[in-house]
Amino acid sequence: MKNLIEAVAKLIKNSNHTIAFTGAGISVESGIPPFRGETGLWGKYNPEVLDINFFRENPEESWSFIREIFYDFFTDTKPNPAHYMLAEMEKRGVLKSIITQNIDNLHQEAGSKTVHEFHGNSKTLICLKCGEQYSASEFDFKTISPKCKNDGEILKPDFIFFGEGIPPEAYKNSFAEAEKADICLVIGSTGEVMPASLVPQTAKKTGAIIIEINPEKTAFTQQITDIHLKGKAGETLTVLGNSLF
Ligand code: NAD
Repeated sequence: MKNLIEAVAKLIKNSNHTIAFTGAGISVESGIPPFRGETGLWGKYNPEVLDINFFRENPEESWSFIREIFYDFFTDTKPNPAHYMLAEMEKRGVLKSIITQNIDNLHQEAGSKTVHEFHGNSKTLICLKCGEQYSASEFDFKTISPKCKNDGEILKPDFIFFGEGIPPEAYKNSFAEAEKADICLVIGSTGEVMPASLVPQTAKKTGAIIIEINPEKTAFTQQITDIHLKGKAGETLTVLGNSLF
């Protein structure tokens, strides 16, 4: 494994445009469970609570789950060594951008600057009626659902629900980065979420080397991965960082 990581470090040093595509797995070492797999959130909750039509009709019921899934788990979580190493790589000029499926804001908290949030962010809330946006930190919604100060409408977290489109700017930027990339690090993602999984697939099609970091095999491993670093994100990126700098 050490030799493989050193080979990857060499590839990254010689690359012109390395990008990272991250999924729920990169935040597991921060204590946030992924959706899929044995400890995944979908083993405990019904995905319907995150459907946009369900939310429009039953916002209170939806919030009773949203609160527990996203705000109880996400509050007080901190970036882990994987987030910090990606931020360091950007600072030192060897990583151009991160495309993340995560909504936990941990890349930004670790200091990463160019982060394209494919699925939005949980730190912002939006009113579906008037479009007003609020910081989630303005509300204490442990018991009451947060309401718009203009019209009293129950606010929705500004990450995408099932049935909603990808934020256009993030979509455009993510695919532009994928097309430019000569290396794409794919970290902690099953590759089962569409259209997000098309980002690394596009990178592959346009000539990038795909380097996957994941303790398990995924849909990507079979289809597009060139080098699989089989391990946890925090540990693997720490060793990679030691070979890089
Ligand atoms: P997923 O839940 O489908 O899969 C997680 C992947 O991470 C798996 O392949 C698993 O083997 C891997 N993994 C587990 N521990 C790891 C570790 N320590 N290091 C590296 N990899 C590890 O995740 P997904 O593909 O990102 O799709 C789920 C969707 O749910 C995403 O679109 C995301 O928006 C959302 N989600 C986000 C968060 C978050 O913001 N932290 C958490 C849960 C789900």
